[in-house]
Amino acid sequence: DDAYVLDGVKLWTTNGVVADLLVVMARVPKSENHRGGITAFVVEADSPGITVEHRNAFMGLRGLENGVTRFHRVRVPAAQRIGAEGAGLKIALTTLNTGRLSLPAMCVGAGKWCLKIAREWSGVREQWGRPVARHEAVGAKISFIAATTFALEAVVDLASQMADEDRNDIRIEAALAKLYGSEMACLMADELVQIRGGRGFETAESLAARGERAVPAEQMLRDLRINRIFEGSTEIMHLLIAREAVDAHLSVAGDLIDPDKALGDKAKAGARAAGFYARWLPRLATGPGQVPGTYRAFHPGGHPDLATHLRYVERSARKLARSTFYAMSRWQGRMETKQGFLGRIVDIGAELFAMSAACVRAEHLRASGEHGREAYQLADAFCEQSRLRVEELFGRLWANTDDLDRKVVAGVLSGTYAWLEEGVLDPSGEGPWIADAAPGPSTQKNVHRPIR
Ligand SMILES: Cc1cc2nc3c(=O)[nH]c(=O)nc-3n(C[C@H](O)[C@H](O)[C@H](O)COP(=O)(O)OP(=O)(O)OC[C@H]3O[C@@H](n4cnc5c(N)ncnc54)[C@H](O)[C@@H]3O)c2cc1C
Repeated sequence: DDAYVLDGVKLWTTNGVVADLLVVMARVPKSENHRGGITAFVVEADSPGITVEHRNAFMGLRGLENGVTRFHRVRVPAAQRIGAEGAGLKIALTTLNTGRLSLPAMCVGAGKWCLKIAREWSGVREQWGRPVARHEAVGAKISFIAATTFALEAVVDLASQMADEDRNDIRIEAALAKLYGSEMACLMADELVQIRGGRGFETAESLAARGERAVPAEQMLRDLRINRIFEGSTEIMHLLIAREAVDAHLSVAGDLIDPDKALGDKAKAGARAAGFYARWLPRLATGPGQVPGTYRAFHPGGHPDLATHLRYVERSARKLARSTFYAMSRWQGRMETKQGFLGRIVDIGAELFAMSAACVRAEHLRASGEHGREAYQLADAFCEQSRLRVEELFGRLWANTDDLDRKVVAGVLSGTYAWLEEGVLDPSGEGPWIADAAPGPSTQKNVHRPIR
């Protein structure tokens, strides 16, 4: 029989509640006639054996259709397989690339909205005899939102432009855009809530009910929060992007970590590896073809001098390469476990990427005669803010609490600090942590139940 039988439960199927067609990744066991491995299928949602068991509800994205889908002996003709057996993971990861551009594009939209509300509200809300925007503590938040929105749009533009020029492999740039966009958008929405004060915490519905403008700032914060978790969590993006660097390094510098190699061989391997970083990181940080030609062509003419920022990017990219190289030789095979270090390296890379994108965009706007002066100002403000973050991250590469934190975690897990939790009343009781997801007949009717 030329068909597969799918069994299992999928938690968190976005649109799975209402879909007619499902794309399913399933593990095919290896056998005489089957290569096996993770394989993609397109499955009709009304196939016998498919049940929507539960509709999930979340902190944000309350309009999302998302549920638990159970497959009980679902027959899928082989013709509905997508690609070859074992190609499923690659297909899944490839589709992620698209999400990693659309998600940060939504974050740009969120930034623009935050800027609009921040401007409108902070200009009219008066405290201590002046609009709150004119108090420095609030003003700094507004400047952060404006500058970051400008840079984030530049990052998405640059990464999308590279995606359109099919020749570029944009995995790293898309991943950086996802990582940076989701993190910065959350910070911007959080600052907006602060700027709105008590009204920031109040729901739009409640505001409207008592006659004020229905501004959903708290909803924006709730809706954006998931972006740091799905489509690759921040922690996983850090590892994924870092691995790109470290893997390439390992293949170049295999000799370097081989204990049997002579010192001379190691030195040669080290030189090769260092060469790789010096080429790759500046490219990562600036995009191919952007440096150095672009910034030599900048015309500051009365505008802030963005060329100094691009020189800073280049200098920092080299420093980043040296730091990574040093860490490689220090930790060697254990490098992968140094997640604190790797996270900071990647965060620096993301800031440098955003700085170059912001400068390039400002220059494009100037050249096209559109808002050139303002764009230069925003790019300049962003780069100054970003540089402070980069300097802090560089400092924390080697001065941090990573080792101490590991000890505290060991204490927490072993129960040494259990006394600290005394006083907690736990209304959640002692229920199971992970619901039973074992395949088997559902307790509910074995039909697809769209919940609309
Ligand atoms: C609203 C919503 C919609 C979703 N839609 C879909 C969908 O349509 N299709 C789909 O397939 N999935 C979907 N998901 C699932 C989503 O992709 C996962 O929740 C996400 O990938 C995180 O996995 P997890 O929840 O199992 O977290 P876990 O893997 O349990 O992670 C817990 C924490 O540990 C961290 N962590 C995990 N591994 C490591 C590691 N090796 N090193 C360091 N830190 C680590 C994580 O970053 C996280 O902070 C959805 C989830 C939600 C909430």
